[in-house]
Amino acid sequence: MAQTPEANVVFGVFNETSDHESRVALTPDTVTRLRKAGVTCMIEQGAGNAAAYTDEDYAKVGATVCTADDILAKADALGFVDRPSEQMIGRIKPGTWVIGMLSSFTDEDYVAALASAGITAVAIERLPRQLSSAQSMDEMTSQNSVMGYKAVLVAANAYGSFLPMMTTAAGTIRPAKMLILGAGIAGLQAIGTARRLGAVVTAYDVRPASKSEVESLGAKFLDLGIDLSRGQGEGGYARALSAEEQAQQQAAVDRKAAEFDIIITTAKVPGRKPPMLLTKAGVGGLHRGSVIVDCAASELGGNVEGSQIGTQVTDGGVTVIGAPYLASEVSTTASNLLSRNVADVLAHFLVNGRLEVRQGEELDDAMVVAHTHAASNGRDDARSGRIDHPVHPRTDHWHRGHRKSAGDAAHAIDVRCELHPRHRHRRCRHRGRRGQQLALLCVHLPRGDAGNNERRGRLCGHRPHARDVQE
Ligand code: NAD
Repeated sequence: MAQTPEANVVFGVFNETSDHESRVALTPDTVTRLRKAGVTCMIEQGAGNAAAYTDEDYAKVGATVCTADDILAKADALGFVDRPSEQMIGRIKPGTWVIGMLSSFTDEDYVAALASAGITAVAIERLPRQLSSAQSMDEMTSQNSVMGYKAVLVAANAYGSFLPMMTTAAGTIRPAKMLILGAGIAGLQAIGTARRLGAVVTAYDVRPASKSEVESLGAKFLDLGIDLSRGQGEGGYARALSAEEQAQQQAAVDRKAAEFDIIITTAKVPGRKPPMLLTKAGVGGLHRGSVIVDCAASELGGNVEGSQIGTQVTDGGVTVIGAPYLASEVSTTASNLLSRNVADVLAHFLVNGRLEVRQGEELDDAMVVAHTHAASNGRDDARSGRIDHPVHPRTDHWHRGHRKSAGDAAHAIDVRCELHPRHRHRRCRHRGRRGQQLALLCVHLPRGDAGNNERRGRLCGHRPHARDVQE
């Protein structure tokens, strides 16, 4: 995080707790980090309660605990787990910055509403995730990783037997056979978690590169017997399959599904409706007592035909759990990671103590979807209200996945597993004098300089490869 002690930016976070949301976009740890960067934090009363952070915890580290009205009146920037409601947009003063998951790929009207309210909107879902300097801001990775972990626990809980093989005096129980469909961040984390719990894991993803990633975690790659190698789209991410390819894939997945006790689905295509991988016929083929957790379930539909948010049991005795909010169920840690992501996005826009959008800067160009020209710490903008580039909802252009090469594998940090001893050793070395120098450089390099940005990225961004993840 840039050290800009002269900054005088007020950052506010609301209580977003709801039936399915327990996370908070600011935690006490992050308050401390932001204060060092000169940012004053305001948090709505009770906002952290559901994530086990009390108002006293925030007050102790110097945050102002107050009402939503106080925040709306004083904050220059607002951070969200999700995004402000349309009603809330009407209450935000012009010139304020809003940072969150704004659904800007799919909801152009919403982005237009932010722009016409004179808000500078930073859409985290547009982060160019391939940049190593952007990795500490990558909320998709941090939250999907939590989701993949929790999906396995939810499945294990709903399943009427053990995950590992167990030898008891009364006989030997075979391990659960688990299928993970979609082996991105969430899927890889699910594989690692399920393997550690002793399940026999098979996984499938449409991207050809995922085979080696799956196998590097000790799982078997599912051979569907069809060639979908063109399923990899721009920047190494999946593309939406054609109707014909989708039908072929569904038929093949339906056939194979019957071999498994537990199926976890995490497949998504950026900016699109999640692909349906398992039809009702496939679900009908599963044995009584088997469990499906559909992490892609949404109002738009999920990876499993007919899955809904919540738990259903089919006539055939299959438990189908639609579970898009699983990160919220690990609320303490998920909030801490998310809050760090949001704070690092905020810090990226701090230039000489002010919030600033720099045109031509890669992260700014990608993430700022609405901007008031005179935006700087909010207050000036309330007067100007002039909108420079109100919206650029580039639904046709995907910014997240420009990996350096299509074959680039996932990194161990994405699945938050143990490091290979080789890397642990290297990390220890970095904790020595040279390591301290690198850490300092990461923190103190001034922003806005392309050379330094690249250098900061190189220094902060070295991540182990998925093949180094240990079981
Ligand atoms: P995501 O949440 O958009 O998708 C999840 C997975 O679903 C992806 O792996 C995708 O290939 C898969 N999928 C989509 N359609 C499918 C279908 N029809 N059948 C089967 N699987 C399907 O993506 P994500 O998990 O955020 O990331 C995907 C990949 O990008 C990962 O391999 C990750 O390592 C990589 N990534 C790289 C960087 C980087 O280079 N710094 C950053 C983030 C992610």
